[in-house]
Amino acid sequence: MAMETQAQTALTHDLEPIVRDRFFIGGEWVSPSSSETIDVLDPATEQVVGTIPAGGPEDADAAVRAARAAFAEWSQVPATERAALVGRVGQLLAARSEEIAVLISREVGMPIRLSRSIQAGLPVMDFASLPEIAAEFPFEETVGNSLVVREPVGVVACITPWNYPLHQICAKVAPALVAGCTVVVKPSEVTPLNAFVLAEVLVEAGLPAGVFNLVTGLGAVVGEALVAHDETDMVSFTGSTAVGKKIGALAAGSVKRVALELGGKSPNVILDDADLQAAIQDGVMKCYLNSGQTCSALTRMLVPRERLAEAEQVAAAVAQALPLGDPLDEANILGPLVSDAQRERVRGYIRKGVEEGAKLVAGGDEAPEGLGDGYYVRPTVFSEVEPSMTIAQEEIFGPVLSIMPYDDEDDAVRIANDTVYGLAGGVWSGDTERAKRVARRLRTGQVEINGATFNPTAPFGGYKQSGHGRELGRFGLEEFLETKSLQL
Ligand code: NAD
Repeated sequence: MAMETQAQTALTHDLEPIVRDRFFIGGEWVSPSSSETIDVLDPATEQVVGTIPAGGPEDADAAVRAARAAFAEWSQVPATERAALVGRVGQLLAARSEEIAVLISREVGMPIRLSRSIQAGLPVMDFASLPEIAAEFPFEETVGNSLVVREPVGVVACITPWNYPLHQICAKVAPALVAGCTVVVKPSEVTPLNAFVLAEVLVEAGLPAGVFNLVTGLGAVVGEALVAHDETDMVSFTGSTAVGKKIGALAAGSVKRVALELGGKSPNVILDDADLQAAIQDGVMKCYLNSGQTCSALTRMLVPRERLAEAEQVAAAVAQALPLGDPLDEANILGPLVSDAQRERVRGYIRKGVEEGAKLVAGGDEAPEGLGDGYYVRPTVFSEVEPSMTIAQEEIFGPVLSIMPYDDEDDAVRIANDTVYGLAGGVWSGDTERAKRVARRLRTGQVEINGATFNPTAPFGGYKQSGHGRELGRFGLEEFLETKSLQL
């Protein structure tokens, strides 16, 4: 059955629009409070992929109330049972992975060969990794004469962005469910269709009514209503730093717990004893993944000043050789940006880089040749980027790499930390111990050494204005727990 579903997913943009006209609330597909809808566009064709309801505060209220009603029972289900159900969800998502990969390629524009392993693969991991983590988790421990118990926070509003849409939802929902919380999900209005597939999978897995609820709509309407709601105990938000600040301020009114996964401007420090060719080859890819629309993208490449010319050459060659085009073409590595607004924003930053005196060594703000429709941007490399420049400080969220020269190790660390963000980073060195020493000096939540791969169960989150709280693995589970001491 699962194989049949996977085989039927065609690699084509030419499909009837997907119409989703109900919310999932209290275990049922219910009609929205208004008939307003939002179109979801395919960034490669600029055509409508589907439509979703534009919810209002009444819909948010109904979803929170359903989650509240389900909390009493769900929070009492043994954690091992909750974890077993979450594990089953992982299997069911895996069975629909090709359909999910194609759908997200059409919503986000990520090339299908990457979408399969990342956009469809990570959600499976988010769910499937939890039974083992829960089995080892100390839900109870003794401290002196106290029994310390970990209990669910309560009703959680999960508000998520568009760049890795299903992973960002699952990284919240899976641990929240294992913790015993009930949830209301408000996905990005730009890429919401995949969230409906998750709702279907949760029904199939047998999740009790009201434990998971889905409402769609605009952030300023549905999102704010969820954050302000008296019956919401926690907001778990992934998105921009600007919206994160608003949410933090709004949630403070009722002293809710808030977890924020926000933006980044992550440095990739290439030390003088590194294999420059390998470091740059990998670094360009780590900047351009998902067309640069990755919060942890390594967007600032720091290289020894005496090797700047060589670094420019290698980076430009790598950028120019990357196959760019239709996300449903198996050959492509880069697709379009998610929307017209995002494309224009990124082009604006490229122009700003030129105006402020950075050296353009590849790409530029013109449309790429031969790609008529679609929100494409040329993969761009700037060199001689100074820390004071806008492109060195602001999150661009597009395929734009800034190469920055440094004088010595201390100078590199100073430049690396010279931003309001602190999400991720990279260090390259021929000496792993030296790389680790430098990595410890970076004020960021993650650092990859010599191009090490992403670990989906390691804690993920930011220092400084990249947010607070951690997602994934054991640390992600802890986010959704309260701590109670019983004195004995
Ligand atoms: P965004 O902040 O515009 O929107 C994120 C979500 O918040 C959407 O669901 C949106 O509808 C909702 N929202 C918007 N305004 C709101 C409000 N006033 N109240 C409540 N909810 C509101 O972000 P985006 O454009 O969807 O995503 C891109 C941003 O997300 C980038 O800045 C990126 O760095 C960040 N991001 C961070 C991480 C991370 O883990 N740190 C991961 C991915 C993306």
